[in-house]
This record gives sequence, C-alpha cells and structure tokens, in this order.
Amino acid sequence: MKILVLNAGSSSQKSCLYDLKDALPDLPPEPVWEAMVDWTHHQGFASVKVKTLHGKTLQTEIEATSRPQVITYMLETLWNGEDAVIKHPSEIDLVGHRVVHGGAIYRQSIIINAEVKAAIAQLADFAPVHNPANLEGITTAEKIFGDIPQIAVFDTAFHAHLPPAAYTYAIPTKYTNQGIRRYGFHGISHQYCRDRAAQILNHPIADLRLITCHLGNGCSLAAIRNGQSIDTTMGFTPLEGLVMGSRSGSIDAGILIHLLRQPDMDINKLDHILNSESGLLGISEISGDMRSIFQAIAEGNPQAQLAFDVYVHSLRSHIGSMLASLGGLDVLVFTAGVGENSAAVRATACEGFEFLGLKIDLEKNNQRMLDVDIAAADSSVRILVIHTQEDWEIARECWNLQ
Ligand code: ADP
Repeated sequence: MKILVLNAGSSSQKSCLYDLKDALPDLPPEPVWEAMVDWTHHQGFASVKVKTLHGKTLQTEIEATSRPQVITYMLETLWNGEDAVIKHPSEIDLVGHRVVHGGAIYRQSIIINAEVKAAIAQLADFAPVHNPANLEGITTAEKIFGDIPQIAVFDTAFHAHLPPAAYTYAIPTKYTNQGIRRYGFHGISHQYCRDRAAQILNHPIADLRLITCHLGNGCSLAAIRNGQSIDTTMGFTPLEGLVMGSRSGSIDAGILIHLLRQPDMDINKLDHILNSESGLLGISEISGDMRSIFQAIAEGNPQAQLAFDVYVHSLRSHIGSMLASLGGLDVLVFTAGVGENSAAVRATACEGFEFLGLKIDLEKNNQRMLDVDIAAADSSVRILVIHTQEDWEIARECWNLQ
C-alpha cells in the first residue's frame, strides 16, 4: 500500500511516500520519496528538495505563484523525471494530511468528505494560517489523485480527552461558548512519542504516566495517563505555555492590554511581536535558534545566557504543572530539534526534579543517541530521547483507518 503524507507549514510544505507491505512495521520505515518546499528565502520563488530511497536527489528553485501550483510541481516529481519512484499517480492508494485544527468536533482522524472540508475551512477562524494551507493541500491532491481516500490527521485530536478543568479558561461563559478553550497542539508528535516510549521500555502504555516534551521551534508538553493526554501547555492557540524560539509562551495577559493601549500598537503588530519577535529571539536579540544561543553564550553574551535561563525556567515550571496533573511520573520524554539535540537543555531541565528520584546519566545524555533511555540505572523515572516521526504517525493513522 502506497501512502502519501502531506504536511503543510505556514511557509513550507513537506511530503513523503511510504510503501507498506502486508503489515504495519514495528519501527518507522524509510520513506521511498521525501520532498520539502520552502518559500521563505526568495520572494516569489520556492526552493524544492527531493530525496528518494534509491539515493537520487533533486534541488531546484521554481517560481511560486500559489501553494497549489507548488504542491503540484512537488508531487509530479513522484512520477516525472530522474527521481521518479512510481509510474503513474494512480499507484497512490491513500493520502494523509496533517491538519492543524480539528476544533472540538474532530477527536480522531477521519476520512475527508465535503462536510469535513467545510469544517476545516470553518476552523480557519481558529488557525488562520494553517487550516487554509491544509485545505489547499487536500483540494490539490483531489485534483491529482481523483477519488482515492484522503484522511485528515489533526494536531489537536490527541488532546480531545482533556478534562473540563484542564481545558476551560476562567473567562465569562459567553466567550467559552464561542469555542474559546484549550485545544493543545503537536498531538501527532506527542502520540508518536507515547507509543515509541512504551515500545522502548517494553511496557504497556496504560500503566505509564508520561510527560512528553516537544521542544522544536514551537514547544509544548503533554501529560499522558492511561494512554490519554490529560493536560498540555499549548492552549487555544500555539502561543500559550513554554517559552519558544520566537514565541513568548504564557505571559501576563495584562501585558497585552497594556501594549494595546500604546498609540503605535495594533492587533497585527501585537500578533507579530508575540509570535515572531519574542521567546529566545526576543530576549537574546540574536536568534530563536538554540544553536546560535549556545554560540553566543560561549562568547560571553549575557542576554543569550538570560534567554537560555528563562527558557529552562519556563520548561521546568511547566513540567511541574504537568506533574501535578499526573500525580506522579514514570517517564520523561524529550523530542524535536532542541529535545533531541541539546544535552544541556535536557540536563538543566532535569536538575529541578532530583527530589522525585529522577536522575539523568550525564554520560549517556552526552552521547547524542536517539530512541534511548538516558536515566541513571537507579533513577525512579525513565528519561527518554525520542526522534519524533510525525509523518510516520500520520501514515499509521491512515493505515489503521483504511
Ligand atoms: P519544528 O518545530 O519547526 O519542526 P524542529 O523540531 O526541527 O522544528 O526544531 C528546530 C529547532 O531545533 C531549531 O530552531 C534549533 O533551535 C533546534 N536545534 C536543532 N539542532 C540543534 C542542536 N544540535 N542543538 C540545539 N538545538 C538544536
């Protein structure tokens, strides 16, 4: 079975093709074809990179007038040119789409029909950048592949079982009735890490209390009990919770009121400040990329040191909050760009929790290995570094639903 996965970001589009045989493999297989389009570098143009399992690569730049045109170009490399891995689009059996917002309606993945498309469009109110991009991916794939099943896998769905006390904001009910509540995001990654953690530890999921720390450009935590997310740090939007690369995370809402009263402020500017100019970037005034922060710290830059300290303080306090919701902890998971690569972030985050009997093995932590347990042998909590595989999780959801 050939499953194509489409994963749209605000200014990027990733895609990959899995070719599965009779059964779902235990470990993520290598995709037979992977493509990545990025249109941030050069106005009006998009850079396209394609890699196949057979070692062929393509790197080019195309004029980009619209997302559907770029997606079409990218997908045509599946059957056109030197990197072709199939003969004809009809060989694709299923298309899985990462859809950022499923609102309160979609609590699990679903086969896309007209009603689902209308709901995704309506939910653009809550995710104005991502849901329209996801919808364009869906309609473009429909045009190319015709009447094959397409499946929406929602980033919010894994958090659909949060209890009311965790998802309700303490604002007047007439606003919560408009759908303003905690939804949580990164669900596809948290779900993958839950299953991979149980597999690595060879332990039933239902017996584990986990905190999964997805630390990429965007950052969020999930508290998982009985296999379900019962609390998470992102909220109504992905802006809440942890300090991130360029997002502020949770700040006193009074600051927003104060800023909005300033004469040169407007809503779009405030949106840009909080989502794109804050976090590590805002404090350091250098970069939102943790690697540049470390470099600046090594050069003695005090603002970079402060950015790191605030990031870790926020991470620890939110881990503490997830811990309270869980009532204990068996497994702490680090994943995504920072979580998988930064031994310093992992070690410093763990320092706050030694009172629990949680002990990191500093030697293992420094070994740069993935899908391993880096806790000391006598630690009461296992500490895992897991390479998140969101595209594979989407493909698994498709396989399970077909
Ligand atoms: P996204 O959230 O966009 O999917 P990633 O999960 O790829 O992003 O994470 C990107 C971030 O990972 C980068 O901004 C960078 O801060 C961080 N990162 C990547 N490699 C390293 C590294 N070796 N050390 C520290 N941080 C890293």
